[in-house]
Amino acid sequence: MRNFEYEAPVTLESAIQQIAAGNGSVRALAGGTDLIDHIRTGRLKPDLVVDLKKIPELNVLELSADGLRLGASVSCARIYGDEEICRDYSALTDSCNIIGGIQVQNRASVGGNLCNSGPAADSIPALIALNAICVISGPNGTRKVAVADFCTAPSKNVLESGEILTELVMPARPANSGSHYLRFIPRNEMDIAVVGVGASVTLDESGEKFLSARIGVGAVAPTPLFAEKAGELLAGLPVNEESINKAAEAAQAIATPIDDMRGTIEFRKHVTGVLTKRALQVSIERARQQK
Ligand SMILES: Cc1cc2nc3c(=O)[nH]c(=O)nc-3n(C[C@H](O)[C@H](O)[C@H](O)COP(=O)(O)OP(=O)(O)OC[C@H]3O[C@@H](n4cnc5c(N)ncnc54)[C@H](O)[C@@H]3O)c2cc1C
Repeated sequence: MRNFEYEAPVTLESAIQQIAAGNGSVRALAGGTDLIDHIRTGRLKPDLVVDLKKIPELNVLELSADGLRLGASVSCARIYGDEEICRDYSALTDSCNIIGGIQVQNRASVGGNLCNSGPAADSIPALIALNAICVISGPNGTRKVAVADFCTAPSKNVLESGEILTELVMPARPANSGSHYLRFIPRNEMDIAVVGVGASVTLDESGEKFLSARIGVGAVAPTPLFAEKAGELLAGLPVNEESINKAAEAAQAIATPIDDMRGTIEFRKHVTGVLTKRALQVSIERARQQK
């Protein structure tokens, strides 16, 4: 493994300074579960690694009437260890529960999963479904970008040189709403998603009509996708199989998957529809239970 310098700043300002001064040869580190592997295999060759785990702003995990603030370095285990977050942001905690195994989940962050920007990353479709917004800090100040617009290509995103993801913010869970993330993998052990789908729905008080829905799909395009139309067409429709099938077809329609050893194009398209239906069904059940 190539030698590199290591810094672990305790303030956001010094982290930004160190990253910006590096002129591209610096990498941020959260849990290191992707980064260390990429350095070990030579895919990334940073001169300096800036550990972000000691910065208070990146370790915020705060649930309030305004919603959820999730610091970019918070581990998956800390997120699914919170009962209220599991109840209100189920799609997120579903994804945190299946990223690697327990050892990985104790180090790995949702911020790192997003910044690694893999097409099959498990947390991203869940974040899209939950309408999460990225708070990005850099030498020129702070800006916000929807998670749905964050990834631009495999391993690429909108972060500019010197910028870091500080936190993710999600709106408060509306009444009569629920969410779910699930993926298909070829075996029961750790593996990369062949398809992953996150859904969130808000129903009317009777639980029989969709007020709104959001669907995110992963592993079926160069970046995780926001299946905007699939969610939009559910608004106002009755909660039944016909409505769910329509949304599943719309999600399938935007999938442009690749053929690989895990699945053919045809199979991935088919599974996109199947998982969209299942993600919606579980979201509906949760919305009805969690008034
Ligand atoms: C055994 C194993 C199993 C795995 N299984 C899964 C799985 O099932 N599903 C899945 O989605 N992933 C899986 N992964 C990949 C990995 O664990 C996740 O992507 C994880 O969430 C990355 O988080 P991290 O905190 O470790 O990120 P790091 O490795 O620290 O960082 C990842 C990338 O993001 C950048 N980065 C990190 N934080 C920031 C920030 N705040 N601002 C800017 N850039 C930043 C880093 O420079 C790096 O390029 C697995 C990995 C291993 C080793």
